[in-house]
Amino acid sequence: MKTYIITIGDEILIGKTLNTNAAYIGERLTANDFQIYKTSVVPDEEEEIIKEFEKAFEESDIIITTGGLGPTHDDVTRASVVKFFNTELVLDKNVLNDIHKLFKQRNLKPTPVNEDQAMIPKIAVPIRNEKGTAPGMWIEKDNKIFVSLPGVPHEMSAMIDDFVVPRLIEKFGNPSETKITTHLLTTGIPESFLYEKLGNLNELLDGAKLAFLPSQFGVKLRLTVTAESQEAASNKLSEIEQKIRALAGRYIYGKDDDTLEKVIGKLLKDRGLTISVAESCTGGLICSRITNVSGSSEYFERGLITYSNGAKVELLNIDEDLLIEHGAVSIEVARLMADGVRKVSGTDIGLAVTGIMGPTGATETKPVGLVYIGICNEKVCTAKEFRFGNDRLLNKDRTSQAALEMLRRTLLGIPYDE
Ligand code: ATP
Repeated sequence: MKTYIITIGDEILIGKTLNTNAAYIGERLTANDFQIYKTSVVPDEEEEIIKEFEKAFEESDIIITTGGLGPTHDDVTRASVVKFFNTELVLDKNVLNDIHKLFKQRNLKPTPVNEDQAMIPKIAVPIRNEKGTAPGMWIEKDNKIFVSLPGVPHEMSAMIDDFVVPRLIEKFGNPSETKITTHLLTTGIPESFLYEKLGNLNELLDGAKLAFLPSQFGVKLRLTVTAESQEAASNKLSEIEQKIRALAGRYIYGKDDDTLEKVIGKLLKDRGLTISVAESCTGGLICSRITNVSGSSEYFERGLITYSNGAKVELLNIDEDLLIEHGAVSIEVARLMADGVRKVSGTDIGLAVTGIMGPTGATETKPVGLVYIGICNEKVCTAKEFRFGNDRLLNKDRTSQAALEMLRRTLLGIPYDE
């Protein structure tokens, strides 16, 4: 069943309102195995709306519109529906009662404009609105379903969940196939490198779907499998997941709702290890992320924000001459910071970051985005160079992610080669 979502409203077109309605409907219908074929946005203009209805009717089986059902002059969806289906408005007494009830609850008297919302196209079944005055409409014609819903997100979502999805399932039955999805979370490898590592995707996926979803935290791999039963889908999914892990497992830190801070928290807890962190360029972000995890006090001892050279000397006991010789943003200082914070805190592990987040602060030899991350334990004390981009806040996120990933790989003995 091809579904076409049309959102109506000038404010969405001009970017003043984020189109969360399309996202919500897309997510709810996909979760119930209806295919989203297309999403479009049209202005509050009858002619444009009708043109889009015609296109949607031609190309798809289910059409869902939101917006423009209100009582004001710029709400033209109902009139467009009347014209498009060549029908007329009739009074629906149940909807009128709903409107009177709502106004009574609010101790207000409905105006004729409000009462006019009980006028429904003759061809439509009204979808009652318990949260507002504009009813939705359900229309069946030529084996197609046309649904029109109000734009207010909580009114729209209640109608989708309580009326539209159940009725679509009733109408079209449960699909004969089962679809399941999982997300594999990778970091420390760019999208194109990951793509190459996975080799021949057609062979690997054998009909399953794989999407690469990059962000500053890494690349999320969305794997979707369709099969005739839940069991078959689940077997096929784990088979492909194993193959992906065999090719790129070292970059996968978790699945679905995992976060890197949760993953490293579990590793530290399981091993009975403690950690301290010295942060320069991230200004506390790494410690904030580590302490996002409930129970982090079991392994997180302290964090020091040593932003200035003075703080690095005073709190981490770094030799001032060395700091001047190498510069605060250097591999030597990252290592000394990690060693210093470990020693002053008495923890098993010390983690440290220093870098230039931009847009200012670059020198001839040290560009914006240059970051060094140090990590020390009882046996090894090492640091690594990273090159990120020009955006300050994205650089902070990337640095925090790289530091936590360096910690994860150190704990698991995975070499950091990228
Ligand atoms: P009502 O009759 O209940 O006012 P309506 O159908 O007239 O609803 P609109 O006037 O189009 O809806 O929009 C009402 C409000 O709903 C907008 O101000 C906007 O905040 C929000 N809204 C509309 N469309 C969307 C959308 N696609 N995504 C998110 N919010 C939306």
